[in-house]
Amino acid sequence: MNRPIRTRYAPSPTGYQHIGGIRTALLCYLFTRKHNGTFILRIEDTDRSRYLAEAEDYIIESLKWCGLECDEGVHVGGDYGPYRQSDRKAIYAQYVQQLLDNGKAYYAFDTTEELVAMRENFKTKENPSPKYDHLTRMQMKNSLTLSEAEVKSLLDNNTPYTVRIRIPDNQDIIFNDLVRGKITFHSSQLDDKVLMKADGMPTYHLANVVDDHLMEISHVIRGEEWLSSTPLHVVLYNAFGWTDTMPAFAHLPLILKPVGKGKLSKRDGDKFGFPVFPLGWEGQAGYRELGFLPEAFLNFLAFLGWNPGTEQEIFSLSELIEAFSVDRITKAGARFNFDKAKWFNAQYIKALDDDTFSDLILKDIPEAYQDVDPAYIKAAALMMKERINLLSEFWDTGFYFFKRPAEYERKVIKKKWKNDLPEKIAVLRNRLASASDFSATVIETTVKDFMKEFGLGFGDVLPVFRIMLAGTKAGPPVFEMAALLGQEEVIARMDAGAENF
Ligand code: GLU
Repeated sequence: MNRPIRTRYAPSPTGYQHIGGIRTALLCYLFTRKHNGTFILRIEDTDRSRYLAEAEDYIIESLKWCGLECDEGVHVGGDYGPYRQSDRKAIYAQYVQQLLDNGKAYYAFDTTEELVAMRENFKTKENPSPKYDHLTRMQMKNSLTLSEAEVKSLLDNNTPYTVRIRIPDNQDIIFNDLVRGKITFHSSQLDDKVLMKADGMPTYHLANVVDDHLMEISHVIRGEEWLSSTPLHVVLYNAFGWTDTMPAFAHLPLILKPVGKGKLSKRDGDKFGFPVFPLGWEGQAGYRELGFLPEAFLNFLAFLGWNPGTEQEIFSLSELIEAFSVDRITKAGARFNFDKAKWFNAQYIKALDDDTFSDLILKDIPEAYQDVDPAYIKAAALMMKERINLLSEFWDTGFYFFKRPAEYERKVIKKKWKNDLPEKIAVLRNRLASASDFSATVIETTVKDFMKEFGLGFGDVLPVFRIMLAGTKAGPPVFEMAALLGQEEVIARMDAGAENF
């Protein structure tokens, strides 16, 4: 196909952006950049009952944080605007009229009660949940069943109405999905969906198809949950006479719960302790606040539903673009794994140069440590660089750089802190206290000489020394850590340890 590649990410601003949405935006973006196309952000806000004003900014901010730049869109403009559906109401009205005029759609005057009654009255064993469709439409109050004069009088009297599509009779609706191949539905499976609501707002289906057409979208890349809407969209393209320029479709696999079954929800995130949204929302930290690097976050997301077909896992955004191909999008749902997300992030943290890394840490100093010397924070952070998965982990895991341990790893202490070790460690404490230089080398020599003299091994002394300083025996090289803490603090911690073990 030789038409220019134009794609859109078309979220609805109803709340935080689920990471599934960002994954859709990312794969759409990769495809578009790979083919030198145009990537568009369109805001689909026709459902006013679920509309949330802050959500639009949240979407824009999320894309910016991830580094997914839009060529056209609600925040950057472009030649195909407006890019917010609520600003396009008049456009939709005109297209709905076109469908009414050529008999592809009809007015429906049924009240809510009448619709409820229909679902009750037409219920049969074969059709347990009747819909407004080829089986029922001729029994309802609409412009197919009423006379022209009756319709006119209802309209003149401002009777509320919706406009419904008239699904064609007995047709196979066939389209090709770039991920799933040939998809066939039968028109009898579809209902006469509302295209325009009583408030004059179009529904998602109508607005989506009209906009994709007018914005000359060449490829619709979206989540699998929209696959079942696609036959209706195909019917609409045909009804408008736009069959030849209908976009190609690619439906991306669902992101599944960590346990594998069902769509990943916010509740799973709450249950397992990870966010399902990129940026903080309503006081809950998102990936950004947890200290994910946007590049790592994208790298992780790209692998939810796509893979390069090689062993390589670490890809920068430009490498992802280079490697991307629709053929390698998977059909099966992608199971979400937060540990894997953290693993990706750790790889990116390790790869940062020291200054960039410490700048990121210094940019986000918790309230309690605002007065700590930045040079000290930087030195501590660099010791932890290889040991954290998330930037925010530095402040938790490396708390001992800023606070004396309040608890000690008891199990280790119980095993080691016996016989005459306390007296011997007291000797070490005094030697360290009188050292005139407190560099890591001097500390190391002092400790090693002491061990030799008293016939002690590393395993006798170092875990205890570490636990005195940090409460735990895991952490960065202990002599460097001690040097950074400083002589006074090390001695104070050794005393506190000896007293509390
Ligand atoms: N507004 C829809 C959503 O929120 C867009 C679906 C589509 O891309 O067609 O996901």
